[in-house]
Amino acid sequence: MRYVSTRGQAPALTFGQAMLTGLARDGGLYVPETIPRLSHAEIAALAGLPYEDAAFRVMRPFVAETFSDTDLQAALARAYAGFGHAARAPLVQLAPGHHLLELFHGPTLAFKDFAMQVIGQLFQIELARQGRRITIVGATSGDTGSAAIEAFRGLDNVDVFILFPHGRVSDVQRRQMTTPVEANVHALAIDGDFDDAQARLKDMFNDHTFRDEVGLAGVNSINWGRVLAQVVYYFTAAVSLGAPQREVDFTVPTGNFGDIFAGYVAREMGLPIRRLVIATNQNDILHRCLATGRYETRGVTPSISPSMDIQVSSNFERALYLAYGRDGAAVAQLMDELKTKGGFTVSQGALQALREIYASGRASEHETSATIAATLASAGELLCPHSAVGVKVASEHLAPPVPMVTLATAHPAKFPDAVEAATGIRPALPPRMADIFTRPERVTRVPNDLAALMRLVRERRRI
Ligand SMILES: *Cc1c(COP(=O)(O)O)cnc(C)c1O
Repeated sequence: MRYVSTRGQAPALTFGQAMLTGLARDGGLYVPETIPRLSHAEIAALAGLPYEDAAFRVMRPFVAETFSDTDLQAALARAYAGFGHAARAPLVQLAPGHHLLELFHGPTLAFKDFAMQVIGQLFQIELARQGRRITIVGATSGDTGSAAIEAFRGLDNVDVFILFPHGRVSDVQRRQMTTPVEANVHALAIDGDFDDAQARLKDMFNDHTFRDEVGLAGVNSINWGRVLAQVVYYFTAAVSLGAPQREVDFTVPTGNFGDIFAGYVAREMGLPIRRLVIATNQNDILHRCLATGRYETRGVTPSISPSMDIQVSSNFERALYLAYGRDGAAVAQLMDELKTKGGFTVSQGALQALREIYASGRASEHETSATIAATLASAGELLCPHSAVGVKVASEHLAPPVPMVTLATAHPAKFPDAVEAATGIRPALPPRMADIFTRPERVTRVPNDLAALMRLVRERRRI
């Protein structure tokens, strides 16, 4: 299977190449040339399988040219071994017809572990085969950085540098990045905000001499490998509710559109997903776009669900590409307008195609807090603020008898202040990470200065 760019100008790649490349050279995102379908019988046969076995069957057609069955199985076994729940992605019921898919039992307590752990293992196999080393540099506002460090810590041919804004991540998030002891992990606290961290990261990628010298690689959410690993839990959840005989709806707390796009891929593979509901917080660019057809950036207002505070939703480009009938030139033009004019209008045909699949809603800060309190009272489930945005929006889209599944994207203990403010209860960390506040921290404070950062990466990475 080949992967092509959403902007139509970059060379087609294999899965392994697309995974190691990240962003296409024409600025686009890689998507599979065709999406393989599983038969009714193949989907039905997923029922009751261990998560890793279901993952193998769902991911295999996408990666078969790069990874043998044995490699893929070994990678999946290692990826999920560190999860704190035997089901990996357990489904709990909130109300009649409304279910919560708990995606926060991984090592850093957010759904990002599901994909990051897998690509950590796949990178390792592919780099060993090619005899290559890489340097991963990432910028994070919290969850992505810790998930990347967990996934790549201790790997032989990878050094991982994570830039986070000094003083602007939660204590749990910081300690998840600063307490790993492995020599290939480098947590960097930059004097600046998240935008500064991301800008310096971009500068590094744009310095081609530096990029080639250190073998720079990215693992942000546009990496196709990450999207693919997230397709799996749509299958396990839907099958446990009666698919393929029965249709299912999903609501997804959305920022960069990676997680919900994985749901779209599952649907194209033949899973009977009726509707994918985009749930946004007050930063509602996607909800406005679906309602009006106009995609327009307005600046980010910080919220209690910070992992969804976005200005530009990168993976939405993949949805547009498919809604425009795989017209790369049309997508390139929209992205150009976004860059030069701050927005674009989706064509009538494409908007109609999007609305056939996606619905959307938003939750205000007040509604988010109220949902955390109400869900604790009605179902005994303590939600993180992101998951609460999902539950609120889902409750407006219930369509019995079709069951609704809302994705719970982070553990409440990762956002204890917002949860305590809503409920009076300060959620405890799972016992396996209760020592995070006593482990020593290792962090380098760095100036917001490109030359200094590049010097540090050159010095620290192991040759
Ligand atoms: C990253 C993240 C999201 C948003 O996911 P996208 O794939 O970017 O849409 C939602 N909730 C939490 C907790 C996250 O970490």
